Amino acid sequence: MVVKYGSLDDAVHDVLRLSRGMTYKSALAGLPMGGGKAVIIGNPKTDKTTTLLKRMGEFIQAHNGQYITAEDSGMSVSDLEVMSKQTEHVLGVSKEQEFGGDPSPLTAMGIFVGIEAAVNFKLAKSNLHEVHVAIQGAGAVGRCLIKQLVAAGAVVYVADINNKNLDLARALGAQIVRPNDIFTVPADVFCPCAMGGIINDETIKILAAPIIAGGANNQLALPRHANQLKQRDILYAPDFVINAGGIIEICRQFQNEAVAVAHAKILTIGKTLSEIFIESEQTANTTADVAEKIAERRFMNETIRSDAA
Ligand code: NAD
Repeated sequence: MVVKYGSLDDAVHDVLRLSRGMTYKSALAGLPMGGGKAVIIGNPKTDKTTTLLKRMGEFIQAHNGQYITAEDSGMSVSDLEVMSKQTEHVLGVSKEQEFGGDPSPLTAMGIFVGIEAAVNFKLAKSNLHEVHVAIQGAGAVGRCLIKQLVAAGAVVYVADINNKNLDLARALGAQIVRPNDIFTVPADVFCPCAMGGIINDETIKILAAPIIAGGANNQLALPRHANQLKQRDILYAPDFVINAGGIIEICRQFQNEAVAVAHAKILTIGKTLSEIFIESEQTANTTADVAEKIAERRFMNETIRSDAA
């Protein structure tokens, strides 16, 4: 990611949170991978030069494949193509792959099945017809999701700060609302697809939807916000479970498996979430706690297996 951080400390804090999230995400999706993230401190509009991207490619190459990079916020297929001249450890850029290798449509596919599972659990509805979804962010993931939701008969509201993306969202059938109104629009599902930290003390107070299910990483500003959501009886689909479609696709590309393998794994996101929702309802634990415990049990099993080998 290329982000205009306030300080080096802010960037280090963010990249550590993001890489932790990726580790939990891979474990919950049952992937044979750990988790890592890289952030570049800079303004993506003015600082993302070819030289910068090439230097980043060299840096990744120096890690001999321990870290593999792919698309992310502010990092497009064309940016990765520049980096791939310096390093072989880039995925999500192949012309032979579906969507040119960009995993965003697969991330959206996972969010769609996750929304179905959440709506089924919370509202006892078996489909998304007439379900109202408020999406924050009509970027690569948000727009793919709008298409699927509109096709399923959902009513979609969208807010974005980028007018070009809003025009594209409108053309796909979404109703546009102002950025501050996306939290209070009368929706069944709030779907964060922009940036992290969006579930915080201010937004929890005003959120209208009884469900949060979206693609952004690190949606909770602080871990305690999961408890506040449970107290308000808002069902939260943990971000690192629902947005795993992209990493599942990247792992498939890495292992050179058939596209159908990723699709089948992505469809299980709904079942995983349903199990998390049930366990959270039956215990004092939040959905985030339940999901983390499942991932940690998987780390333990892997450790025991590799110790025994
Ligand atoms: P993107 O950069 O293509 O889109 C983000 C959109 O959010 C942009 O249109 C931007 O203008 C908008 N936005 C930014 N701030 C906003 C605000 N305050 N209010 C409303 N809109 C705002 O990113 P993306 O690839 O669509 O990813 C979206 C989120 O999902 C990110 O948090 C990303 O880390 C996460 N994610 C993406 C993938 C993937 O496959 N692309 C996978 C997993 C997680």
